[in-house]
Amino acid sequence: MYIILLGAPGAGKGTQATAIAQKLNLAHIASGDLFRQALEQGTGLGRQARVYMEKGELVPDEVTTQMILERMSAPDSEKGAVLDGFPRNLEQAKALDKALAGQSRAIDRIIAISVSEEELRKRLGGRRVCRQCQTVYNIVESPPEVGGKCDKCGGELYQRPDDTAETVKKRLEVYFEQTAPLIDYYRQKGKLIEVGGEGTIDEVTRRTVAALNEGELIAR
Ligand code: ADP
Ligand code: ZN
Repeated sequence: MYIILLGAPGAGKGTQATAIAQKLNLAHIASGDLFRQALEQGTGLGRQARVYMEKGELVPDEVTTQMILERMSAPDSEKGAVLDGFPRNLEQAKALDKALAGQSRAIDRIIAISVSEEELRKRLGGRRVCRQCQTVYNIVESPPEVGGKCDKCGGELYQRPDDTAETVKKRLEVYFEQTAPLIDYYRQKGKLIEVGGEGTIDEVTRRTVAALNEGELIAR
């Protein structure tokens, strides 16, 4: 089973992708996390991606698509995966469809999480991420129990360099121009599930799981 999570930066893709992957026992593949990992490891891919990420632009399609397809062919993705942050434009979506079709597979569902622009800005400004386990906090809305430390693993929380005001603005522009059109692309394929992304994390997870249930993707 392959599920795609679509949504603007700050919509909660990562948080929900983690929850769903766990529930359905699927791999969680997050393009942004893979780039950040490459960056930390100082690989060529990381150096290439950095320039784009810092500006809030998309990393070129070819590099990105190849990275994701490689990751999808790892053993833990055999039963399927939840894709978070990919595809992010029409070219990537088509490349993914084509690659899966070549293996007689296809995307099962696309979950589009919608959140108002005002709420997105608030979330991104206050966002802090655990360096070790990638759990996301918000210093205003969902602060950690101990300041600066991850509740789950004690790791150090940091602000992503692309969560600065200027880059956030650019990332939202890129989302509305390039990624949002994918909602129509998948709607036309009859695979889209739309979920309201405001409310508590658990509420959104419940909505998402309920929507997948209706689509009979989860055995009752
Ligand atoms: P967010 O969804 O909060 O913007 P991500 O962690 O998913 O954050 O992505 C961070 C950055 O990584 C993006 O702004 C972009 O530069 C790069 N990136 C992630 N996914 C893709 C993709 N599918 N195509 C191109 N660039 C990507
Ligand atoms: Zn942690």
